[in-house]
Amino acid sequence: MLAERVRAARASGALQPIETVEAPLEDAGVRFVVRSVSSLARKPRAAARAEADPFLPPEPDLTLGALSATHVAVLNKYPVVERHLLVVTRAFVDQETLLDRADCAAIAACLRGLDGLAFYNGGRDAGASQSHKHLQLVPLPIGDGPWGVPMEALFDAWVATGRAARLPRLPFANAFAPLEEPAVGRADFADRLLERYQALLAACSLVASHDEAANEPQRQAAPYNLLVTRRWMLVVPRSRERFGTISVNALGFAGSLFVRDDAELRALREAGPMGVLQAVARPV
Ligand code: AMP
Repeated sequence: MLAERVRAARASGALQPIETVEAPLEDAGVRFVVRSVSSLARKPRAAARAEADPFLPPEPDLTLGALSATHVAVLNKYPVVERHLLVVTRAFVDQETLLDRADCAAIAACLRGLDGLAFYNGGRDAGASQSHKHLQLVPLPIGDGPWGVPMEALFDAWVATGRAARLPRLPFANAFAPLEEPAVGRADFADRLLERYQALLAACSLVASHDEAANEPQRQAAPYNLLVTRRWMLVVPRSRERFGTISVNALGFAGSLFVRDDAELRALREAGPMGVLQAVARPV
C-alpha cells in the first residue's frame, strides 16, 4: 500500500517532506496555488545538482516497484505535496531526449491507477534538477478551487491548428490536445499519448533535427514542459528556468507555484503568477 510505504520511508528518514504553507492567489481568471516554505529546512537544490545520479539506482526505501521492464516508480525524496511520485528509467537516459513509447506506457499506467497529473520538465531550463530521465505524477485535485487543475479555468476554448490545438486564453505559446476520458481504459492509450505528444511537440517546433542513421535517441530542440491528465495534454515551450530567483517547472503551468522565502513570495505577488509564467514561457 502506498500509504504504508510513505509512512515507512518517513520513519527511516529516506523521505524528507518540505513543509509549506499553501495560499490561493487569484490572477488572470485562475485561482493559483502558492506554496511557501514554512520551515528553515530548505530543499537542498544546490547539493542535489552536484551529487551523483540519485536514480541509478533509486534509494530502496523510496522505491515503490517496477512499472514496466524499463520504468520504476519512486517516491520523491523531497515532496512538497503528498504522494508525489517519480517514474524513472532503470538505465540512464538523458532528460533532454524525447519521450518514447515506453515513457508513454509508463504515463498510461500511472493515469490508469490514479486520476492525477503526470508531468515532465524537458531540460534544466524547464525546471528539471536531474538529468536522468524522470516523469512525475501528483494526485488531483491541486488546491481547493472548482477545478482539479487550477489552470483548467482557461481551458474552455481552443483553436485547432492542424494536428494540434492551442489554448488562446493562455498568454504564452502552447499546444493542447483534449483526450476523450474513456481513452485511459483502452489498450491503445499509450499509443494515443505518444501520437498526441509528437503532434504537440511538432506544433511548437520542439523536435530537433535527427540523424536516423546515428541510432541515437531523438532530442528536444528547446526546453519545454509537458502536462498530461486523463482528459487533456498540454505542451508549453520555455525560454528560461527562472523568474528572478523563482524556479518554475511544469506544475507552474498547472497553476501551482513554489517559493522558497518571503522575498520570492513578494516578487511573485508583484509580478502576478501569470506574469511569472509569461516571463519563463515563449510569446504566443
Ligand atoms: P525535477 O527537479 O523536476 O527534475 O524532479 C526531480 C525530483 O527528484 C525533485 O523533485 C527532487 O525532490 C527529487 N529527488 C532528488 N533526489 C532524490 C532521491 N535521491 N530520491 C528520490 N527523489 C529525489
